[in-house]
Amino acid sequence: MNEAIAGIDIGGTKIAIALETIHGERISDRLFPTHAELGPELILDNIASTVREMTAETQTRLVSIGVGCPGSHDIERGIVLLPFNLPGWHQFPVARSIEERLGVPAVLENDANLAALGEFTYGAGRGFRDIVYLTLSTGIGGGIIFNGEIVHGVGCGAGEVGHMTVLPDGPLCSCGNYGCFETLCSGTAIARRARERLAKGEPSIIELMVSRPEDITAQVVASAAHSDDKLAREVWNEMIRFLAIGIGNLITMLAPEAVILGGGVAASGEQLLAPLRPLIWQRVRMVPAERVEIRQATLSGESGVYGALAIARRAISTKPLFV
Ligand SMILES: [Zn+2]
Repeated sequence: MNEAIAGIDIGGTKIAIALETIHGERISDRLFPTHAELGPELILDNIASTVREMTAETQTRLVSIGVGCPGSHDIERGIVLLPFNLPGWHQFPVARSIEERLGVPAVLENDANLAALGEFTYGAGRGFRDIVYLTLSTGIGGGIIFNGEIVHGVGCGAGEVGHMTVLPDGPLCSCGNYGCFETLCSGTAIARRARERLAKGEPSIIELMVSRPEDITAQVVASAAHSDDKLAREVWNEMIRFLAIGIGNLITMLAPEAVILGGGVAASGEQLLAPLRPLIWQRVRMVPAERVEIRQATLSGESGVYGALAIARRAISTKPLFV
């Protein structure tokens, strides 16, 4: 029977599972709703039975599992702390519970760190040693990989870049602070800013693009900005200015080889990156910022599950990361 590894990405709304052979060939994929209201025990039961089906169908025997989960983590103990979108998971021993169900060693990691590792191993970060990954989505998540390793820091808090202060006295953030990076540059922030300006009666084609203000998304604003709508263009450019400040600070601090941007806001590609790069270069004085690649992520919504596969593989690999 062939040996395989599993990557499991547990999100607030969806769970993705992938199997790879020990030689790196993807052999099975599943994507299904989390049903967060079920709580951790039943959700992990669903995951375990799905993994058993997948190994039976592919006639493989699992040797290692990587698991990604939102929230902050105690990586050493495999415990999740305070995942906002998974009620009942606080202090839940995710890694041990999966090991007990499937009889295979499991490694737990924060979902944003795994997305970073996924891009580093399989996507836009391949070939680099040092990258910073940002996901610009409903919030902003981040992961820092240096010398090929995820940087964890005290309390595994490294890479929580969404909560750097970028604008003192800026909008109130879900974390309790004001003017965090994600209150200015996440998809939620872009939509909110457009809604605020529309509510003041400013004209915009956005009103023709959606039937209700709740339907405004960052993609709607990006597409209106692309059509040269004044309101949308100003909201979009203001976001890019703050994004350049945040990324500029990260580059000044870390001097990575590449900054990889994923998530829905980054899906606009060069519409975001082309004006962003020179604004970053203006801000960064002590690092040769032109040599830092600013790239769009290439794995789209799959970077988390790719990262989970990468960490499962690392757990059983004896090869050095770099030679
Ligand atoms: Zn915050």
